[in-house]
Amino acid sequence: MGAAALLVTALMLPGILGAAAALGSWAGAGAGGTHTAGGTHTAGGSFAQGAPTAADGVIAGGSVSVFDDTLPAVTKLDPALLAAVRTAARAAGPDIRFVVNSGWRSPKLQEQMLQDAIAQYGSRTEAEKWVATPDASEHVKGEAIDIGPWAADDWLSRHGAAYGLCQIYANEGWHFELRPKAKTQGCPAMYADPSHDPRLTG
Ligand SMILES: [Zn+2]
Repeated sequence: MGAAALLVTALMLPGILGAAAALGSWAGAGAGGTHTAGGTHTAGGSFAQGAPTAADGVIAGGSVSVFDDTLPAVTKLDPALLAAVRTAARAAGPDIRFVVNSGWRSPKLQEQMLQDAIAQYGSRTEAEKWVATPDASEHVKGEAIDIGPWAADDWLSRHGAAYGLCQIYANEGWHFELRPKAKTQGCPAMYADPSHDPRLTG
């Protein structure tokens, strides 16, 4: 892939945490002619095979309708989770748009996000309050969806339990997972942040 194509790709990824900066430096190296396909340019090696693409769950432009049927970020979600989100979106009515800001992610995309978060927050401990490891992430399993905009999150926080959709982390008002029992029992208590979730830390 040429540097020009990489730059175009970078410009299409504003929604991914720090991706533009990371890709920018990578593309710059390509422009200088020092990068070769399959090389190990970055210290972490996460870009050794090229930047994450739509096939890794990247959503060009940052968001896409929950009814999209083409992007792996949407189509590789757990079918039951996606069906619940779409049912809720229809129930919310035409005045509240539901979009996916992040859905299914490949391990490669998750690792990039974790590395970017470590760079942003200064430590792995702090970063893991916001971004799970590829092994643990519910996004990588296809069992979590980040919904926007705020009006949709607000609607789901009030009505989502009826569809089995629950906010899991108090610090992530956009992150929803399927909890079928919520339909009759309500949503479980939230974790303060992902670092308190035994699925991610245990
Ligand atoms: Zn999430």
